[in-house]
Amino acid sequence: METPYENPAEVAARYVDSIDRDRLAASLVDLIGLPSINPFDALPHDNTGERKVADYLAGRLQKLGWACRTTEFAPGRHNLIARLPGARTTGPGRSLMLAGHMDTVETTGYPGALAGTVRDGRVYGRGACDMKAALACYLEVAEVLAERATPLNGELLIAGVGDEEYRQEGAKALGESGLRADGVIIGEPTELKICHAAKGLAAYDLTVTGTATHGSVPHHGTNAILTAVDLLNSFTVYGDRLEHRHHHPLLGQPTVNIGVIEGGTKPNIVPSRCRVRFSRRLLPGETPAAVRAEIAEALGTPDDRRSWDLGDAWWTVEPYELPDGHPLGEVLRAAAAAGRVADTAPHGFPASSDAAYFGSPVLLFGPGSLAQAHSLDEWVAIDDMVTATAVYLRAALMMPKLASGTSGTSGTSGTSGTSERDEAP
Ligand SMILES: [Zn+2]
Repeated sequence: METPYENPAEVAARYVDSIDRDRLAASLVDLIGLPSINPFDALPHDNTGERKVADYLAGRLQKLGWACRTTEFAPGRHNLIARLPGARTTGPGRSLMLAGHMDTVETTGYPGALAGTVRDGRVYGRGACDMKAALACYLEVAEVLAERATPLNGELLIAGVGDEEYRQEGAKALGESGLRADGVIIGEPTELKICHAAKGLAAYDLTVTGTATHGSVPHHGTNAILTAVDLLNSFTVYGDRLEHRHHHPLLGQPTVNIGVIEGGTKPNIVPSRCRVRFSRRLLPGETPAAVRAEIAEALGTPDDRRSWDLGDAWWTVEPYELPDGHPLGEVLRAAAAAGRVADTAPHGFPASSDAAYFGSPVLLFGPGSLAQAHSLDEWVAIDDMVTATAVYLRAALMMPKLASGTSGTSGTSGTSGTSERDEAP
């Protein structure tokens, strides 16, 4: 048994040397082969829902001595929380959670999506980078710690989370359970960049109403599609305006995207209805209601000739930002620097994530790139998985440095060690 704290750098280097590249890739191939497609609003069936992945993670971790608990946060939808027992907490007890979502986007039009393959130093398949690669890295962390049989100075948790790709219900359930950690690392595909902030999202429907009439006498009606086109010009102006304000140092500007236009039934009927579905990325501090008001103002006022209704946001993901100077930032920076990660400066994650819902301070850092996520050719470089595993291991060994943490932006107080022990296995 080793004592890791006499010469931390030397010990960490030995841990990192124990990372087994082939085992790491094999874990990811296994995970890709276990379909866990997010069913969105449908009930889960064979290939959807997180159960298979949760069972696999629990099976592997239990063999390594971890205490695991799977919870069902909605019918057929699951989270997994695993805890490494035997923490040595001579100093102030600290806790670190390695978290990752177990669901993926769909596999339609993606031949061989579930046949994880290893080729030219990469692993291919649905979920390869978003984000089963990080789950495989967490398993490798557990394998290395088990081989070294060293009690960590703090509590290490692994969280497999459901429903990240839609409504973040898994992360919300975890946050509401009261489980807290002094630091959470989410291994989303950040290209091994440390992301201190993540954009949120709010989706809205704009419903335009006109008056239907015979297509041969269009002047007797009001064409809802033409009104919508008029309004789309206002969106363009609004989008241009966004480019010149709200600049966030890590996330840049918010953006707006028109995603869907639906309207009309036949070429010879003046359409009475048109629906425009759009989303707006949110910066920390912005709320869906305030953004809705801002867009309504940009669209102007409906009148007798042009009638529309802008609904409240029907799909939202909260933005997130780690408070400045939080020790989690320094822990991960030091762990990455020791692992020769080229860029250890703070970055922003442009996509939405679970970050805001844990109720604990969060950083995003993981292998793979958003350029491949959700694509029909998803892959991750095994070298990057090895690097990420080394950084997660070093961060776990540095847990005592998470002392004097403050809360995340969600308003939940930071705690010393994992709180609400009754809620965890
Ligand atoms: Zn993801």
